[in-house]
Formats: sequence, structure tokens, C-alpha cells
Amino acid sequence: MTPRRLGQHFLKDPSVAARIVAAAEPSPDDTVVEIGPGRGALTRRLSDAVGRLVLLEIDAGLASRLRCEYAGDTRVQVVEGDARLLDPAGMPALSQRPYKAIGNLPYYAATPIVRLYLESTSPPVIMVVMVQREVAREMTAEPGKMGLLSVAVQLYAGARAVCTVPPRAFSPPPKVHSTVVRLDVRDRPVLALDSVDDFFTVARAGFSAPRKQLRNSLANGLRVPASDSATLLSDAGIDGTRRPATLSLPEWGDLYQAWKRRAYAGREATP
Ligand code: SAM
Repeated sequence: MTPRRLGQHFLKDPSVAARIVAAAEPSPDDTVVEIGPGRGALTRRLSDAVGRLVLLEIDAGLASRLRCEYAGDTRVQVVEGDARLLDPAGMPALSQRPYKAIGNLPYYAATPIVRLYLESTSPPVIMVVMVQREVAREMTAEPGKMGLLSVAVQLYAGARAVCTVPPRAFSPPPKVHSTVVRLDVRDRPVLALDSVDDFFTVARAGFSAPRKQLRNSLANGLRVPASDSATLLSDAGIDGTRRPATLSLPEWGDLYQAWKRRAYAGREATP
């Protein structure tokens, strides 16, 4: 991929770098993975502050530069690879102890990377990421403005915006503003779910037509008649004329439980 495709907008404002690192509250006891270290705008501050640092970079040239720079430092490990594909549960430095994840993420890959880390069986305790401002808004949204990404993030973590960063803080400047978000990962998901995949089948269906009323959006996503989705919503105690963005996480949980009761009732009825 070309540098532009890899989202290589390098941070040139040291005060922003300092804020990102400070948001993770680094300490000498910490193991930290930096996702997309690039030319190292955050890296030196991190390596000075933490006990163990894993640098995960997709670009072979940048990974090799980092390997040279940290050749004498046994606390720093450079991993060349795609952060969308390398589950932390499979990385020895991250799977055996609590760790934090930090990164000025490439826009094109920010959502899959955050979801991979949150959904992993070895999630970080804290994740501090810089993402496109609109993506940050969705991650941190409250009921009324929520989207599928809000549900996917807040199921696993408390999310808050740290600061917004203008394009001039980067070289080359991107076309959009960025926001630093801190995710405090919960000990367990906020909803007790027997199947996360099935839960997201329902949530994805609910958001399939976000501007429509929920009974229509859900019918569209589940490919069932509107009368069926209306019954499901009424079983869950949710007004079907509401928009998907207005539901809270517990309400998505109620809708999932109602869907599951109907799905299992259907299976039991089948000879
Ligand atoms: N951390 C540096 C900074 O703040 O200046 C660079 C940030 S730049 C926005 C994104 C970095 O992520 C680049 O170094 C890019 O090569 C790297 N990158 C892009 N896609 C990646 C992926 N899928 N996995 C790991 N690193 C990736």
C-alpha cells in the first residue's frame, strides 16, 4: 500500500504527543503496545516512561528504522505486521500480563483495530487512540446519537474524548480533524451475553436503516415482516417508533433477549 493508503499522517506537534501519552497514565510497571508507531512521535516518550514496549508497525521500512533505533534496548520489541490481523491474545508479550494499548491510528483501519483489541480474549486495560473526529463522536456517543460503533465500543469499555486535534498538527495534514479517545476497558462486558455474534446480528439489523423507525429498520435488517419486528420490540418493552440511535445498551440487551426467546421458541417448535 502507498503511504497515503496506510494513513501515514505523522504527528508533528509535540504538545499533542505529550497529551496522548499522558492520557494513558504510563508508569514503569506498564507493558504498552503502540499501534502504528511510524516515525516515533509517541514512541520515545513511551519508551522513557514504561517498563516494556511493543511497537506494531505494518510498514517494513518504518519497522526497520525502529529496530535500528531500539537495537540496544531489550525492553522494546518491534513487530512488523497488520494490527487488524494480529490478535493480542496470540502475542506473548500481551497475552500474559495486563497491558495498555496506544496509537495514533490510521483512519482506514481504526475501527477494526479497536474492535479486535476490545473483543480479544486478552484485551488491554486502557486504550488511548487518536481517530477521525466523527468516529470518536460515535465511540463516545450517548443514547440519542448512538450508532453500531457506540454499542460495539461501550459494550466493552467506558469511552471519553480527551482532546480534538486539527489537521495542521500532522505532516502531511489530513483532510479531517482527529480526536484522542480514552477507553477504560471493563472487567467484563456491560451485558451478560451468551453469544456476542448473535447479539451483533440483532444490533446490526437494528441499525440497518438508522433514519427509519426501529420497527422498520429491524424488519429490514432481520428480513422479517414489520409485524414480526413490532412484536419483538413490544416483547422487549421498546416503542417501535423510536429511532435506533435512541436505544441504550441495556435496551439493546433486552431486544437481544426477546429475539433469542423467539428464535429458541421457533427451534423447539420445529420437529
Ligand atoms: N504514531 C505515528 C505518529 O503519531 O506520527 C504515526 C501515525 S500514522 C497516523 C499511522 C501509522 O500506522 C503509520 O506509521 C502507518 O504505517 C501505520 N499503519 C497503517 N496501517 C497499519 C496497520 N494495519 N497495522 C499497523 N500499523 C499500521
